[in-house]
Amino acid sequence: MALMGQMMAMPLLISSLIKHAARHAGDTEIVSKRVEGDMHRYNWRAAEKRSRQLAQALARLGCQAGDRIGTLAWNGYRHLEIYYGSSGSELVCHTINPRLFPEQVAWIANDAQDLVLCFDLTFLPLVEKLATQMPSIKHFILMTDRAHMPAQTSLAGLLCYEELIEAEDGAYTWPDFDENTASSICYTSGTTGHPKGAVYSHRSSVLHAFGSALPDALGCSARDVILPVVPMFHVNAWGLPYSCAIVGCKLVMPGPHMDGKSLFELFEAEGVTFSAGVPTVWLGLLTYVKTNQLKFSSFKRTVIGGSACPPAMMKTLIEDFGVEVIHAWGMTEMSPLGTVSTLNAKQAGLSADAQRRLLEKQGKAIYGVDMAVIDDDGHALPWDGVSAGNLVVRGPWVISSYFGQSTSPLISVDGVPGWFPTGDVATIDDEGFMQITDRSKDVIKSGGEWISSIDLENIAMAHPDVHEAAVIACAHPKWDERPLLVIIKKPGAELSREQVLEFFEGRIAKWQIPDDVQFVTELPHTATGKLQKLKLREQFKAHRLPGT
Ligand code: ADP
Repeated sequence: MALMGQMMAMPLLISSLIKHAARHAGDTEIVSKRVEGDMHRYNWRAAEKRSRQLAQALARLGCQAGDRIGTLAWNGYRHLEIYYGSSGSELVCHTINPRLFPEQVAWIANDAQDLVLCFDLTFLPLVEKLATQMPSIKHFILMTDRAHMPAQTSLAGLLCYEELIEAEDGAYTWPDFDENTASSICYTSGTTGHPKGAVYSHRSSVLHAFGSALPDALGCSARDVILPVVPMFHVNAWGLPYSCAIVGCKLVMPGPHMDGKSLFELFEAEGVTFSAGVPTVWLGLLTYVKTNQLKFSSFKRTVIGGSACPPAMMKTLIEDFGVEVIHAWGMTEMSPLGTVSTLNAKQAGLSADAQRRLLEKQGKAIYGVDMAVIDDDGHALPWDGVSAGNLVVRGPWVISSYFGQSTSPLISVDGVPGWFPTGDVATIDDEGFMQITDRSKDVIKSGGEWISSIDLENIAMAHPDVHEAAVIACAHPKWDERPLLVIIKKPGAELSREQVLEFFEGRIAKWQIPDDVQFVTELPHTATGKLQKLKLREQFKAHRLPGT
C-alpha cells in the first residue's frame, strides 16, 4: 500500500497571496493613475485591509459563496481590491472587457449571471444603457468616492464604492475553503461564435502565479517595479496581480491612460523596471519615444504576448533601448501562460543572431504546462522544428470545460485523452522551443501547402516604412487561397506595391510571397488589441488578386 505524505493539507487560496504581501511587503507601494485624473498611492498592507472591508461590504449586500461579481474597470487599486475581496471571500470575480460591443458585454454578464457589477466612472454611460438588459445584476457599484458620484443617473440605488468600504471596519478573517472553488471567470473574445467562459480555481490561480513568477518564466522579483499594461480584464492581466503579490514588488497601474506619452511619463516617474503587454501597445509607445528622441531610464524588461511579437519590434527594443524582450504565448483557457522564450546556459553562449532566432520563437513550456503538436488524425508529430501541426496542451491551469457547457472541448493524443486543442498551428524544435506559425483559421492554404501569415507579417514589419502589417487569405481560382498583404505606411513614407514585394525577395520562399499589397490608414483590432483578421477578410472579400 502506498505510504501517504504527512504534510499539512493547506488549501492554495488567493487570499494567501495578499496576506503574504501585506505581511512581508506591507509598505511596498501600489501606485495608480485614477480615472478621476489624479494619482493614488498606498501599499500592500492598506490594499489587504481594504480588500477585507470590501469582502464585508459584499457580504452585507447579501452576496453568498459562488456569486459572481462583475467588473468593468481599468487597471487600478480598486480593481485589485475587487480581485482579492471577492475571490478571497468565496465569491467569483468576473472581469468583463469593456472594449467589446455593448451587446456582448450584456451577453457575457447574463451568461455568467453576475449579481453585482462594479465599474469605473468611464463606463457609467455604458452601464446606464445596458442595465435593463442585465437582469441578474442586483447591485451596481460605481468605483469612486462620494464627490465623483453623478448628480443624476438612471441606475436605481447606485452604490458608491468608497462609502461601502468606509462603512466597514475590516475585522474580517479570510475564510478557508476547498482550493478547487472557482475564483474568477474570464470570457474568450469570441472571434468565432459567442464568447466562452473560462472558470479559474483558487488552486489553478495560485499555481499559475507560482509558475509564472519563476526566473525563467516572467522572472518577477521584489526589486522590480511592475507596470501591467495588459488590462486586468484580459486574462487577469496575465496573472500579474497575483504574481506581484507573491514577490511583493511595487505595482504601478496606468488606469485608462495607455497611450505612448502617458505610459512613458509613468514609466519614468515611478521607475518602472518591468512591464507586459500586447505588441500594439509597444507600437504606440515606441513611436512616441522615437519621435521625441527619448530614452528609458529604468525600464529593463518586458513581456510581449497575446499576438506574435514582430522580430523588428524585438530588435528595436533590445538594440535601441536596451530593453530585454520576453516573448510569451498563452490563452484565456490557460490562465494564460503556456510558453516563454528564455535561454539556458548553453544557448546564452550562442552568437547574438542565433540567440535572437530562439528568442523570436514563442518559447519553452513553463513547468506545469505539457504540450504537443499533432496531425489531423490526433498523432503526435516529432519535435524537429519543421513538422507543423495543431498545438495541444494540458496542465493544472488549463481548462477542462467551459462555463455552462456540457460538451468537453478536450481531445486525445495517440489515444490518451485529456488534451486541450489551442486552435494554434505550431512547430516545436528539439530543444523544446515552440513557434506558432498561425491560428488554424488564419493560415493560408495555397495549393495544399500552408503559408504562415505571421511569417509574412514579420517580414513586412521589418521594412522601415511599414507601421503595421496584416496578411490574410484571399480566394484564388487555381490555388484556393493566396496571401494578401495589407499595410499601414509610416507617416510621410513613400512606398509602392512593387517596393514592398521586392523586399520579400530572398527573405522567404518565392511561392510564399504575397500576391498583392493594399495600403490602408487603419487596421481592425479586437477588444484585446489583436489584428481582427475575420473583419479584414470581410473587408477584402471582393478583392481580386492580379491575374485572376
Ligand atoms: P482571444 O484572442 O480569442 O481573446 P486569447 O487572448 O486567449 O484569446 O488569445 C489566445 C491566442 O492568442 C492564442 O491561441 C494565439 O493564437 C494568440 N497568441 C497569444 N500569444 C501569442 C504569441 N506570442 N504569438 C502568437 N500568437 C499568440
